Parts: sequence; structure tokens; C-alpha cells
Amino acid sequence: MIIQLEKGLSEGNKQSIIDKVEALKYKTTEVKTQKGEYIIGIGKKDFDIREIGHMKGISDIHIVSDANMLVSRKWKVKPTVIDLGDGVTIEEGGMALMAGPCSIEGEEQIEKTIAHLKENNIKIMRGGVYKPRSSPYSFRGLGNDGLKTWYKLAREAGIKIITEVMQVSQIEEMYDYVDIYQVGARNTQNFNLLDELGKVDKPVLIKRGISGTIEELLGSAEYVFSAGNENLMLCERGIRTYERASRNTMDINAIAILKEKSHLPVIADPSHGIGIRDHVEPVALACVMAGADGVIYETHEVPEEAWSDGQQTLSFRESEKLIKKLRKTFELRESF
Ligand code: PEP
Ligand code: MN
Repeated sequence: MIIQLEKGLSEGNKQSIIDKVEALKYKTTEVKTQKGEYIIGIGKKDFDIREIGHMKGISDIHIVSDANMLVSRKWKVKPTVIDLGDGVTIEEGGMALMAGPCSIEGEEQIEKTIAHLKENNIKIMRGGVYKPRSSPYSFRGLGNDGLKTWYKLAREAGIKIITEVMQVSQIEEMYDYVDIYQVGARNTQNFNLLDELGKVDKPVLIKRGISGTIEELLGSAEYVFSAGNENLMLCERGIRTYERASRNTMDINAIAILKEKSHLPVIADPSHGIGIRDHVEPVALACVMAGADGVIYETHEVPEEAWSDGQQTLSFRESEKLIKKLRKTFELRESF
């Protein structure tokens, strides 16, 4: 059960509601986000909703039995809209595009990427400055200094930044320079990180774990929401299966299922999803048809020379072609 509380209700009123819900044998948790206050009731007891519905300070009660109830679509009338300012939003019925290199490599690369994005009217640039690498000897990112350079150039160009945060201590140092924090597939169940991102007033994109289920992804989002941050997006980026012909197996099913289950925007990452440059485009288009609210992908002026993930990175020419096809596909989907 989710009880939405009225703004500014007194502690006394809140306590009476909690006492009443606990008397009905529900275990309660208080949730306070930047947008509202809720009381979560865990239990499955039969009761007459009118027993609490009349209480002072309640604006709405929803009987939701989903384990991850705050991110469930079952109670929220309007799907979540992520507002990045300057007219940039990520939302259902929109087609948010986020593109850029796997890793930020330096000023020249940032400038070239920004020019490519601007030519194609893309408002959000991706790139890693903290890179989770399978080998400790691979390039691990330029760190916060790289982020600061990127931020300066991106702001001048009116471009928003999405970048991965790998650990709790980075949240604060990155804060002034990011528009969206990305939680990477290796950190989807880093619950301390998720808790801390719940305290931040900036949007968070959570990638699905490498071997994570859809429910586990929703659980990760529930962590951030219940810790205070409703500004969330989910990202399908492929999962590990027995198949070795592709880097991962892009679970297009998950896009349709996440859209059904959750009110949060769902973003597709076909670059990591298949991991093969020549096949990023068809997979990306399929994700749009499956209902994705946005696509995040890797592009680089010279993919062969990229410092990471070059094999799945599109050249600017390929990227431009993809952008055009994505927009057409989106229009087609919306016309149905
Ligand atoms: C990335 O976006 O470059 C990345 C490391 O993604 P993932 O966490 O999905 O592997
Ligand atoms: Mn990558």
C-alpha cells in the first residue's frame, strides 16, 4: 500500500496514520522525496480502505501489491517526466537521444563530438570519466578533471551531460558537472550507491545488471526512489546469456515489460546490448518499436582509435544515419 500524504501535514497527523496502518498489521516505512511524502505499507491483510481513507493528511491511498511499488505504474496516474532544464525532457511519448564516446578522452574529442551532436540536434552527450573495466590495465577514465573540461565545453554549447558514477565518494565531486548520473551495469545492485543517489536532486539512469532480472532492476530503482529521488530512468543494456556471437544479448522483451510495469522512462542502450558496430542500428530501431522512450549509444570520430569500446562505437557518419532512422521509426511508432 502507498499512502500519499498531503504537503505540510503535522508530525502528529502522520503518526496517527502510521499507528492506524500498523494496527491493520502492515509494516510501515516513511518515504520523503523531493516531490512528496509517502507511507509504504507492507503486508497483505484484508481491510476496508475507508478505515484509513478519511484520516486527516492523506491525499491518496493506492493498494499496490508489487514488491517494487513506488516505481510501479499501478499507482501513478502520469508517467515520470525527467526535466533537465532548457526545454530538454525525457518522457513517455518522447524520443530522447543521448550519444557520445564510451570514454571521454580529451578536449579535442569532446569538441568534435559536441559539434556532431549539435549538427544533429542532440541535446544530451554521454561519456565515461570513471570507467569500470574488466582489466585493471585498460584505460580507466580521466576522472573529475576530465569531467570539468567536458562540462565547460558542453555548457558553452548548451549540451547536457550523462556520465557514470562508480562509488559514493564521487557523487559530491561530480555534482556540479553532471546533468544525469548513470549507474553502470556492474553497480546496479550497489545498494549503498543507490541509497546515496536517493539523496541527490539530479536525475539518475540505472542500467540493468549484467545478469540482473527485470525485477532486480526495478528493485534498484525502488532503492533510489525510497531514499528520496523520484527522478529516475531505467536502461536495458543487454544481459549475459549463453550466446557468444554478440557481446551481450539485448533483451528487447525487457523494454516492453518495463514500460508495462513502471512509470519511469525506459532507455535502450544498443551499443552495449549487442556490442558489434554493424548491428547497433537495427537493434536500436527495434528497441524504439518495442516502446523505448530514448536511446543511448556510443559514437566517436574514429571508432577504431577510441580508448574503449571501439568495436561497438559508430562513426559520426553512421551515427547521423542512425539518428535519422531513429526519428523516422519513432514517428512511425507514434502513428500507430
Ligand atoms: C558504458 O556506458 O560505457 C558502460 C560501461 O555501460 P555498462 O555499465 O552498461 O556496461
Ligand atoms: Mn562503453
